[in-house]
Amino acid sequence: MTVPFRILDRLRAGRPIGAGEVAKAAAGAADGSWSDAQLGAFLMGVAIRGLDDAATGALIEAMIASGERWDLGAEFPGLTDKHSTGGVADTVSLVLAPLLGVCGVPVVMLTGRGLGHTGGTTDKLEAIPGLSLDLDRDDCRRLLAEHGCAVGTSTAGIAPADRRLYALRDVTATIRSLPLITASILSKKLATGAAALVFDVKTGDGAFLPEFDAARELAHRLVDTCAALGRRASALLTDMDQPLGEWAGHAAEVRATLDCLEGRGSPALVELTYRLGEEMARLGGHAVTRADLEAAVASGRAREHFDRWARAQGAEEGWLANPVCELAPEESVLTAPRSGVLAKVETRQLGLLLAEAGGGRAAGGGAIDFGVSLRTQARLGERVEAGDELGRVYLRRPDAGLAERFRECFVVADEGEAPPLVYERVGRPPTPPAPATGTPPPPN
Ligand code: URA
Repeated sequence: MTVPFRILDRLRAGRPIGAGEVAKAAAGAADGSWSDAQLGAFLMGVAIRGLDDAATGALIEAMIASGERWDLGAEFPGLTDKHSTGGVADTVSLVLAPLLGVCGVPVVMLTGRGLGHTGGTTDKLEAIPGLSLDLDRDDCRRLLAEHGCAVGTSTAGIAPADRRLYALRDVTATIRSLPLITASILSKKLATGAAALVFDVKTGDGAFLPEFDAARELAHRLVDTCAALGRRASALLTDMDQPLGEWAGHAAEVRATLDCLEGRGSPALVELTYRLGEEMARLGGHAVTRADLEAAVASGRAREHFDRWARAQGAEEGWLANPVCELAPEESVLTAPRSGVLAKVETRQLGLLLAEAGGGRAAGGGAIDFGVSLRTQARLGERVEAGDELGRVYLRRPDAGLAERFRECFVVADEGEAPPLVYERVGRPPTPPAPATGTPPPPN
């Protein structure tokens, strides 16, 4: 009997599998000694039977061990990272990296591409001409030392086992397994060596896990697993029943980022950015408060730092001097069909429509049209009159039918409520920061 067969036989029979067995499967994913069929059966077994915390930890450790371990935290004390489970018009990472960097809170993020209805930070930053996200460990070290922040894309070297397992989860209907999600996210996050991780776990129509209870359980698993593996972590459970910011679309979200850094971002995006930023600073042990973050924006230091950091990652000088973020030319106004209250925004569908219009990856894998965008003006719970503008859509070609489908995503009814932006915080109660030891990044 082969090793994979024995482990799969245990899983099938409902007997617990231990850390060693789980680690063998992860190693087998990385070195090719487990076939796709065996890994598919393993994933389904885990999705059905679950994994206890120790086995989940072992899976993560083995997935990390399948690739490079950067250990940047040893050199940059209090190194922070943030992960969002993804949504629509969520530009927080783009704002936070230079904002925290200039405030002396080191931040490293290896970001992902858009998937389905959600946008990806990697894709959004690629809307900046010249900017490169292809960072290795030395690039990140240099950026952290010089600018206090580094934003790359998940590289081939980090947790390669996850790449194979994720692709197999996609075709075996095991994407939604909470231990597998936890292991997938944390294997990539922990490999960089960040000491403090903050998770933005979305719930609601446009979230990866729309159901509140599932999102909350994921938040707890992420935080508890980090703690078991010796990392500080917390999570905010946040709303994705409507787009977070006013703008969705790649170039538009770069513009929205600059707006935030210039002190005129849309309120929900700004608020969540500060909430997550202060959480990261506190968890990383830095004596940086929300007031410090606000002051960095108000003084222009955060906006200036964006340019320094983007230049260091390759952004073209011409664009930095004149950061035009062009919208697609066919603008349609989306109006309220009746008077009432904005009661529902089909957020997932908005993301899918953006992708269908060319502004995302569901369009068939081709190049993303960075100019395709959506502007959402009305917020849930707001009173609107018939004919009022709810938003605008910017398409590459005239398409009244598609514009109408965007409009249908905004539901006006007699009653409706504004959801909270942050439902709850998951993690140990906040404590005042103990100063991080070691050499802080330069203040700039
Ligand atoms: N993001 C990941 O990296 N992995 C998952 O499984 C889900 C979201």
